[in-house]
Amino acid sequence: MAGVLRGTKNLLQGLHKHGHSALVSSRTMASKTPVGFIGLGNMGRPMAKNLLKNGYPVIASDVFPEACKEIQDLGAQVLDSPAEVADKADRIITMLPSSPHVIEVYTGSNGILKKVKKGSLLIDSSTIDPSVSKDMAAAAEKMGAVFMDAPVSGGVGAANSGKLTFMVGGMEEEFNAAKELLTTMGTNIIYCGEVGTGQAAKICNNMLLAIGMIGTAETMNLGIRLGLDPKLLAQILNMSSGRCWSSDTYNPVPGVMEGVPSANNYQGGFGTTLMAKDLGLAQNTATNTKTPVPLGSLAHQIYRMMCARGYAQKDFSSVFQFLREEENQ
Ligand code: NAD
Repeated sequence: MAGVLRGTKNLLQGLHKHGHSALVSSRTMASKTPVGFIGLGNMGRPMAKNLLKNGYPVIASDVFPEACKEIQDLGAQVLDSPAEVADKADRIITMLPSSPHVIEVYTGSNGILKKVKKGSLLIDSSTIDPSVSKDMAAAAEKMGAVFMDAPVSGGVGAANSGKLTFMVGGMEEEFNAAKELLTTMGTNIIYCGEVGTGQAAKICNNMLLAIGMIGTAETMNLGIRLGLDPKLLAQILNMSSGRCWSSDTYNPVPGVMEGVPSANNYQGGFGTTLMAKDLGLAQNTATNTKTPVPLGSLAHQIYRMMCARGYAQKDFSSVFQFLREEENQ
């Protein structure tokens, strides 16, 4: 008991030091109060399920009501709009496709900020433009709420098993409150700095991932054309300096590995459209900061071309198939 009281006292002193309201402290300590979740798609659905599994009541909303069916069956309450969720929950997680969706869900006519309670913690795990995260944080602050960006890496598999990596940006003194929820969905919760820096880390990772995937695909294709067996070539690369995640964990060539999208006609995994979007974000941020990213630009063009040629819904490792088809033209 004494320990609990001491912990509470320290927490209150900490909050006082940072000028936070009593509302923030009651929210931070009310550990199993309902958590709002908006955007129950490929990633959001398993993430919300893990919150439920960890004993957090979930209040959900999605423009596509069918998306909420599964978690409703597991006991979640489903409401019609983000504003209604904000009226009921003072901690809300959003997992939406891209920047315009996030702007709509936070600042739209039925958005979170229409009904947000003072002291609420709003965590956006979508991958979006860092400048939009900053705008949302400023808009939330005007309403007395705290916004943090916490994009993820790991994909649907990690979302299901609760092993996502979260890259978190925002007020450092709110990090522990965010972490309490994020640990139910992920194993690595990394504080990156001020709001928007979580997105910055995510965008940098995905630009390198795209470049590595295209490089692996064209290398494997060349090797095959030179008469090498693809499995043998992958084995050699993976014991040599060309090794990377795309060659040893997510090889894009059908038949080289099991349990990856290339073994399943590039179904599931991380869609080419989403990769094209993330590379577009990298381009914007590179332009704004006058940073040369020649390979990132080329990767963006390649993934955009793929979207226009029927690869939009396939996993991004289908760039191997795209290159194979190009060579026959
Ligand atoms: P998704 O398209 O499967 O899900 C998005 C959900 O948001 C959908 O259910 C959609 O109906 C809902 N939605 C859209 N607009 C809405 C609105 N105005 N109000 C309420 N709900 C709305 O996307 P996803 O694969 O779950 O990805 C979500 C985010 O996570 C994206 O930013 C993506 O880049 C990122 N991400 C995805 C993966 C992956 O492997 N799929 C991995 C890491 C990061």
